[in-house]
Amino acid sequence: QAKQSGRNTWREYANELASDVNTRLSLRTDLQKALVNDHFSMHYQPLINGFTGRITSAEALLRWPHSDRGYISPSVFVPIAEESGLIVPLSQWVLHAVCRDKAALNRKIMADFPFIINISPLYFQHPRFVEELTHALATHNLSPQDIQIEITEGVLLERVDHTISKLSTLRELGFSVSVDDFGTGYSSLSYLKDLPVDKIKIDSSFVRQIAGDRKSAAISKAIISLAHHLGLKVVAEGVETEAQYWFLKRHFCDEFQGHLFARAMPMEQLETRLREKGGGETLPMAPESDL
Ligand code: C2E
Ligand code: MG
Ligand code: MG
Ligand code: MG
Repeated sequence: QAKQSGRNTWREYANELASDVNTRLSLRTDLQKALVNDHFSMHYQPLINGFTGRITSAEALLRWPHSDRGYISPSVFVPIAEESGLIVPLSQWVLHAVCRDKAALNRKIMADFPFIINISPLYFQHPRFVEELTHALATHNLSPQDIQIEITEGVLLERVDHTISKLSTLRELGFSVSVDDFGTGYSSLSYLKDLPVDKIKIDSSFVRQIAGDRKSAAISKAIISLAHHLGLKVVAEGVETEAQYWFLKRHFCDEFQGHLFARAMPMEQLETRLREKGGGETLPMAPESDL
């Protein structure tokens, strides 16, 4: 209950922030300064294989500790960066920060798991995106298996052919691509059969409702089944409870990401976790009803 109200309060705060014109303008200026002064950092959230309990990969999530306003969610400031064009330098910053961290991790631990980067539709459409991506990898001595890409359905809103050919290029280069927040955008299911991608992430808004709402449960089940029939893997995001995990696991969801297993954490913490647990997480016990 406390969690629920916490979330609503946050939502209201986020909406308020996002809708106030002056706030947006001042955040834009602050973003610009933060870029110049390198005031961002990356956190990493593990993805867990639902069958083995092993951490397969980690999603890189941008953090901006704002000096006056405290923590501001990327779901608030990324859209502001997109509107103002700052998303391009911001994305370049993220790309290098994640490559640097991944290269450091490769040197320390025999970690054969990729870091996943969220690519904003605007940066994805940028003419130099693929070039900058491959250049960043080369600079840090990484291969395309080290970095995976996450896009949202937003990239499909315009220039579908162009998007499909860029995705094909990425896959030919050896990158794995996921569609993030699946089911929340406006793209139609028919695109999915032509999209050269590897994975789909069920949006947390469906996962959150699984236990209480039969429609969300049905949608989640349908997404998993559809994806598997198309030869795609499925990740569930925002998994917070054992009930959600078990529902999804029973319906053959491949990977899990959420507070039930791990929050996004700084690099050092991720390293400790990988070392201590050997990259394995304890999976919840099967509920009585399943035994
Ligand atoms: P996303 O890519 O869908 O990332 C998942 C979000 O869900 C993250 O929020 C993560 O912290 C949160 N999350 C994960 N598990 C749970 C859970 O069990 N419960 C709850 N309540 N939340 C959970 P975050 O870090 O605030 O990021 C929000 C969005 O901002 C991301 O959604 C992504 O769209 C965008 N974003 C974050 N980092 C970047 C970035 O480096 N570049 C771009 N372009 N976008 C980013
Ligand atoms: Mg994501
Ligand atoms: Mg997501
Ligand atoms: Mg999401």
